[in-house]
This record gives sequence, C-alpha cells and structure tokens, in this order.
Amino acid sequence: MANEHTIRELSHEDRTFDPPPDFAAQANVTAEEYTKAEEDRIGFWAEKAQRISWETPFDEVLDWSEAPFAKWYIGGKLNAAYNCVDRHVEAGLGDRVAYYFEGEGGDTRVITYADLQREVSKTANALVELGVKAGDRVALYMPMIPETVFAMLACARIGAPHTVIFGGFSDRAIADRVEDCGVEIVITADGGYRRGKTNALKATVDKALQDLPQVRNVVVVQRTGQEVNWDDDRDIWWHDLVDRQSETHDLEFFDAEHPLYIMYSSGTTGKPKGIMHTTGGYLVGTSYTHWAVFDIKPETDIFWTAADIGWVTGHSYIVYGPLANGTTSVLYEGTPDTPHRGRWWEIVEKYGVTVLYCAPTSIRTFMRWGRDIPAKYDMSTLRLLGSVGEPINPEAWMWYREHIGGNNCPIVDTWWQTENGSILISPLPGVTSTKPGAAMRALPGIVADIYDEQGQPVEPGSGGYLVITEPWPAMLRTLWGDEERYKKTYWSQYPGVYFAGDGAKYDRDGDIWVLGRVDDVLNVSGHRMSTAEIESALVAHSMVAEAAVVGAQDETTGQAIEAFVILRESAKDRDDAVQQLRDHVRASIGPIATPRAIMVVPDLPKTRSGKIMRRLLKDVAENREIGDVTTLADASVMDAIQEEMRARQ
Ligand code: ATP
Ligand code: MG
Repeated sequence: MANEHTIRELSHEDRTFDPPPDFAAQANVTAEEYTKAEEDRIGFWAEKAQRISWETPFDEVLDWSEAPFAKWYIGGKLNAAYNCVDRHVEAGLGDRVAYYFEGEGGDTRVITYADLQREVSKTANALVELGVKAGDRVALYMPMIPETVFAMLACARIGAPHTVIFGGFSDRAIADRVEDCGVEIVITADGGYRRGKTNALKATVDKALQDLPQVRNVVVVQRTGQEVNWDDDRDIWWHDLVDRQSETHDLEFFDAEHPLYIMYSSGTTGKPKGIMHTTGGYLVGTSYTHWAVFDIKPETDIFWTAADIGWVTGHSYIVYGPLANGTTSVLYEGTPDTPHRGRWWEIVEKYGVTVLYCAPTSIRTFMRWGRDIPAKYDMSTLRLLGSVGEPINPEAWMWYREHIGGNNCPIVDTWWQTENGSILISPLPGVTSTKPGAAMRALPGIVADIYDEQGQPVEPGSGGYLVITEPWPAMLRTLWGDEERYKKTYWSQYPGVYFAGDGAKYDRDGDIWVLGRVDDVLNVSGHRMSTAEIESALVAHSMVAEAAVVGAQDETTGQAIEAFVILRESAKDRDDAVQQLRDHVRASIGPIATPRAIMVVPDLPKTRSGKIMRRLLKDVAENREIGDVTTLADASVMDAIQEEMRARQ
C-alpha cells in the first residue's frame, strides 16, 4: 500500500470511546446535521447565518465566481460588536457574566455583558477621538486582560480591523507587523505579569516604533504600575482617554465582507503571513462551531479556552465565538505554574469550569509534572475537553481523558489553522465515537479530503495532503497586501482546492488523522512517514515527556530520522535511555522508523502558541546555521540544544 506518493501508515489505534449516553442525549447536535449539510451545503450555511443578527439581510450566501477570492453573505450588513455584546443586553442578559478574569497574581474582575457594553462603547468613543476611522488598522500588544477584549471589540464596533500581536513577541516582530499593516495607532500596557515577574510591553513598543513615525498614538493601559518612558506627543494613558468617554456609542453597520482583523500566523514554517478575516462569515463560523463542537449551553456553561488572545484560538474561542453565543468564559492572564503547578485546576475548581480547551503542549507538560497535582482539585464540573494546535499524541489524549476528565468527558481534537478562522475537522461530542489522537472527520458544512501527489483522493489506510475542497464561511479572504502569495500558498497545489500544508491519513475506518506539516514529512529510503506518529511512539514510553522528530539528510537513505527527547524527572539519570528508546521505536512501529540518533535535551524550541519548531531542530541535525527565531517563545532553548550537540561531538 505504501508507495512514494502516500504517507505510510505507521500506527493503528483500536481504542474508541463512544459519547457517554447522557451526554449524547442532551447534545446540541445530532448525526442528522451531517446529512442536512451534505444535502444542501449552501442552504445549511444560510440557516447557520441566522445565529447572527443582521441589520440588512444578505441576498446571496456565497459568491465564488472570482475564486479563490470568496464572498459570503453578499449584501448583508452587521456589526460584530453588536452581535457579541449589545444584542445580549437588549435580550435582557446584561447581568450575565461574560468573563471571570483571573490575574496571575490572584486579582480578579467579573465582567457582565452590560459592563462589556459600557467598556466597549467608551473605548470605541476613545478611538474615534483619536481619529480612527472605518478601515484603519489598529495594533494591540497587550497582556491577557479585559482591556484587550474591550479594545478588539471597540475596533470591530467602528470597523477598524485590529491586528493583535502576541504579548511575548520582540520589538522586531512588532515593527514588521506595524509596517506590513500600515498601523497608525497602537494599544499596549505598561507591562503584564508572567511567571510572577512583569514584562515590559510599553518599552518593547517604544523600541519597535523608533523608526516608525507613522504611528500617531500609543494608548497605554496601566496594568503593573511599572516605570515607563513617555512621549507627550504620542503616548496617552488608557485611563485618561477612555474613562472620560460617554458610555454609549452609536452603532454603524458594515458590509459582511468588511475586514474584521488581520492576524499573522505563528511562523512555525517560515515568515508569518498577514491573514485577513472579514465580518459576516467569520462570525457565523465561530459562533456555529463554538456551539456545535463545545456543545455550549450559554445559560449554564463556564467555558475556558486556556490560550492566548494573541493566537487565533483566542480570537475565535475566547472572544468572538463565545461572545456571539452569549457564553460565560474564564480569562486567565498567567502561566500554568504560577504560583504553583496546580493553578489551572484551582481555576477549574474555583469557577466550576465545564468545558476546557487547550493545547497538547500543555497536556504533555502536566503529564510531566504528574497526575498527583490535578488529583488534588475537585474538577467534577468538567463535562467536555478540547485540544488544538498540534497533533495530540494518543498517550497524552488518554492522560487528559483520565486525569483531567475523570474518564467521562468526551474529547474533541479540533484541527484548524489561522487561515481557517474556525474549527474545520473535529469530533462532535454527542455524536462521534472518538479515537485517541484522531481529529476524525470534517464538521457539517465542511468538505475535507486527503489527496496524493497527483491530486487523487487516497484510500482508507493511506496518507497524503489535507485539502478542503469547498469554500467555508470563516475562511481567510486574502493575505494582507499580497494576493499573489495568497493564491500561491493555498490554491496553486491543486487548482480550485484549499491546500492546508498539513499531511494527514485516513485510517482503515476512513477517519482522519492529522500528521503535521507537509514540510515535516520524512522520506526515508522512499518511504514517506509522519513525524507525529514517531513522536507519539516515543511519548508512549514511560521515560519520555516530550519528543520532536526531524528528517536529516543522509547519504544512503535520503533522509534519516533524528529525535530530540525530554526525559521525565524519574528517567533523568538513565544512561541506557537512548538505546532503550531506539529499541522501543523499532519494536512499536518497525525498523524503518528507527531513529539514527536520539538526543536527550532539556527543552524543545516552541512558538508562543506551544508548537514545536521542527525546522530549527532540522537545522541542528543538518549542522546548519539556525534559521529565523523571532517567533520562538524562549530563544535560549536553541543555545542549550546546540551546547548539548557540541558536547557530544
Ligand atoms: P505558519 O503557517 O506561519 O508556519 P502555523 O501554521 O504554526 O504558522 P497556526 O495557524 O497557528 O500557525 O497553526 C495551524 C497549524 O497547527 C495547522 O496547520 C496544523 O499543522 C497544526 N494543528 C492545529 N490543530 C491541530 C490538530 N488538532 N491536530 C493536528 N495539527 C493541528
Ligand atoms: Mg500554517
């Protein structure tokens, strides 16, 4: 079956978990939803658009005549902030909590929908006072605090697309984005709290803007009270500007295709791309998927996406999706180990979190710290768990299910990208029998497939390239200022079809497993293999906490497998670890997958959203100079790895 055009299937999973019957009985979505969408996809998306309030109804659902430039809900007019805030207050839900904010240091704020309406209106008035008009871009470089949400929604309210820059990025990254996006207003804070310390956000913005006089104003939230430099002509305190504004703001409605935001991708594989999302389709996509995938009951659920707002997951599932649905969410500023390693579970217990959504990197970290920590907390309110950002190793999935979910929460492994805007491939928790590590199947209304090199769909049991064959409402519309790159990156591999850049396979039942980046797929003696499966085999060994696998040039086999592993605390001193792990991989998936080398490292290079940057490890394995590290969470990790390598030589 395996040939050079398909990705070889290395692993097989027999464990399946049906939705608990009582969960299925109350679920928002049943299996009929798939049939309905298959029979009439456009009609399905027309119906889902009714989740949203339109000031002017649309007269056509999709215009794909200028493909790959899509228009959804043509003629419709709406306001995203109105949909997320005002309409809930008008419906009498002003007292419902929108966010339980938990600062890293333990300070808290409770923000109701009525509070949100006042704060967003004031902030919108403030931006208008600064001369911001519809269409102007506003950059945010903020900690995870409520003002970040106020600012995003204020931008949406006045039709000024926001571009949120991760609070951990460097001045260089800010400057690149401000320049690329033509930003004239930046909103930041003096600093934020991370690991018990303050990070200097304002100072980083100052540095970034040194040679960018185009930025007229920097609005600064006072979060930490730390000292900041001040430019009287340019800088203005949030409290001076926003506090004196009126609590009401007259709404304007925008075209469904009006740009809502630009978000730069995480740069795992190369230079970040300015991904542009528009208003109508994006809101429909995020609202529907949030409701369907997380089975949201806005009256009773406490929803927590434990991710950063500066990542698309935060945009879609901390801000727009949950608010469009009138949900109560937790917003947590800090890291999982501040002040102690049980912080997340303490938060789950404190607020009675019912649905938790996070990344595999966090789950693997919790595994490394041990099950005793979550066991100390009452997490019985949890009823559903989600995963996003990377393939989740089956063993991490099982651990999540058992030690966080108490063996009775369905797990939704959600595949999507910044470009997609909303979840595209995921189990539906009341319908799908899940398998540890599998994203399973495309959501209703989404048409996904796996193609071989020639553009033919592959058979069950084979792998290839993940594609989306029909447009969807929350899809990106273009790359900011670069239509050519948009066409080339996503639509040129297979004409008319969205190329995700991820490898995937159908298992023998025809369910989808996402295997990681196409750039990361290995080719050993003509056999194409995924890094994810080999990594999962390593993580399944009790000595291993995390693993990353790359293909390094090899004279005889073309590529050879090199693995980088972090050992668990208990295995740190084992000098036979490397040999044991090689034997383990050979035994569990076969000789073809045996690593040529296994390096024990103290840490792995990751983006701020927790994704492993394999391209940097490949540079190490191939003895090259290390590539672009600007979006790395912690640049010192690469120094430590290189030191380790030098010590071995
Ligand atoms: P860049 O495109 O700049 O290299 P990036 O792709 O890392 O950055 P994102 O859009 O944040 O930026 O990440 C999307 C990618 O994350 C997907 O293409 C996929 O590789 C991975 N991913 C996300 N969710 C899942 C999942 N559930 N299973 C497997 N992979 C996932
Ligand atoms: Mg990407």
